[in-house]
Amino acid sequence: MIKTVKFGGSSLASALQFRKVKDIILADPSRRYVIPSAPGKRDPDDIKVTDLLYSYYEKISSGVDSAHIESRIRSRYLEIVEGLGLALDLSSEIDQIFSNLKNGYGQDYAASRGEYLNGLIMSDYLGFPFVDAAEVVLFDENGNFLSEETNEALKKRLGNLNTAVIPGFYGAMPDGTVKTFSRGGSDITGSLVARAVNAELYENFTDVSGFLLADPRIVDDPISIGVITYKELRELARMGACVLHEDAIFPVKEAGIPINIKNTNSPDDIGTLITSSIGQQSNHEITGIAGKKGYCTLSVRKSGFNSIRDFENRVLTILQKEKIPCESIPTSPDSISILVPQKSYYSKEFEVLSQVHSAIHPDAIYLDSDLALVAIGGRGTRTRDRIADRVFAALAEANIHIRTIDEGMKDLAMVIGVADRDFEATIRVIYNKLICDHCMHDAVVKS
Ligand code: ASP
Repeated sequence: MIKTVKFGGSSLASALQFRKVKDIILADPSRRYVIPSAPGKRDPDDIKVTDLLYSYYEKISSGVDSAHIESRIRSRYLEIVEGLGLALDLSSEIDQIFSNLKNGYGQDYAASRGEYLNGLIMSDYLGFPFVDAAEVVLFDENGNFLSEETNEALKKRLGNLNTAVIPGFYGAMPDGTVKTFSRGGSDITGSLVARAVNAELYENFTDVSGFLLADPRIVDDPISIGVITYKELRELARMGACVLHEDAIFPVKEAGIPINIKNTNSPDDIGTLITSSIGQQSNHEITGIAGKKGYCTLSVRKSGFNSIRDFENRVLTILQKEKIPCESIPTSPDSISILVPQKSYYSKEFEVLSQVHSAIHPDAIYLDSDLALVAIGGRGTRTRDRIADRVFAALAEANIHIRTIDEGMKDLAMVIGVADRDFEATIRVIYNKLICDHCMHDAVVKS
């Protein structure tokens, strides 16, 4: 059996965390291909090494003194090497990196060094060969990711390596220039490696025991879900749930490799399995509660408009032209209301209004701003029917006014809009109603 294991930044933030990671890897011989992130935060006030690298790059590019950031980055790594008692000489590597940066290497190169250096430490610490991602994760000359070519390169390079450490987050263009994925991209590298080595499982180690049903910054100690499908997860991620990098799902989904989200600090917890279909019913009716602030609804009214589709299309075309993404389009016979991210709308408001006026001659245009969306993920329409009354009653009791409702999106039971300022309270009320009440009911039934 082959497992690909990816460790996030908080799992590799210190020597202590590296030790936990080594124990996890050595506990299971099938954990053969390891993808490290850069060192993350050691405590809530700490700064991730990747963020330090970005700000270092910004400072030297604008000629500002950055020696203090350089020494902060340097000491993060040297503390880990020392704390692990390794004989590895990382100083010359670090010197080379800073000299390259002073000589004009780019921003992606700067950001990628967080993973690169952590990969060197991990390889030395585990005794696994180091494979530089720049050789096997490939981008074209315009920086577009090359999926098939990467798969071939990884297969070829890893084919005769029984074990390896491949740093996450970056690759290279044909001329060797380093190129990174977007933030959180080590998840993608893990997924690409899992596909290339035909892994049975892609274990993604983080600092929580699986995919939590709600954001732990909002709900105290939320429970995690046992199994969720790629599709369900994608819908929730689109609505703001923070789990995996969105692009990490495609490679393993295509290859039929499940992802197991696990906790480095509590590795015996089973975590969450993400797979293409679920063979069991969830204990809870819902798969998650997620949301985003900063929306507004643009409503355009024109009475007696006899071809509503054309009316709708014309407004949507204008928004598309101005590159304003639309979230959903609840429609009534003589008006349409479109949910749009407030910031993008405000930056183009003048253009949109003038075009809508001249294309449609509306009776009225309304804007309802400072809206937050809260999505409830659920399995099937029966879930929706069961939860709707309870959610509405609980929100009414908490004096939270629902400003818009959208039902029946694929893997989401419903999406509601509330005032931005009610966002956190809404999530807490829904969680308490649908999860805590259910847990209490379970406890009573069992006792
Ligand atoms: N270190 C990078 C970031 O902070 C990539 C990653 O952690 O996956 O975004």
